[in-house]
Amino acid sequence: MSYDVEKPDEQWRAELSPGEYAVLRKAGTEPAFTGEYTDTRTKGVYSCRACGAELFTSTEKFESHCGWPSFYDPKDSEAVELIEDRSHGMSRTEVRCSRCGSHLGHVFEGEGYPTPTDQRYCINSISLRLTPDAA
Ligand SMILES: [Zn+2]
Repeated sequence: MSYDVEKPDEQWRAELSPGEYAVLRKAGTEPAFTGEYTDTRTKGVYSCRACGAELFTSTEKFESHCGWPSFYDPKDSEAVELIEDRSHGMSRTEVRCSRCGSHLGHVFEGEGYPTPTDQRYCINSISLRLTPDAA
């Protein structure tokens, strides 16, 4: 697998904060209800904190009450990459940035949320950076 943005691990470690590195590059998960964007309603675009690619927008963000920012669709379907994840004894679908391969979170479907896709992209706040729309 190759990505448009590839850097040696040491460079990612130097450029990202320890918390960002643990989630983005080591597929960690921030604790529920602690991320800065969990309840954010600000209109804007959410970009990858590792490479800056635009991933999600506030238009698809919804209140899932799960403790992490949740979106029912990415900004563009090519913006994210979905990978089967069988770690921790579960079968889940991992969501990565398709430009740099950084870990964003997981996507779940069929949970019954009243959204157009019935999908929940459960994304770590620390993987994202919100750029508010110009007022
Ligand atoms: Zn990225």
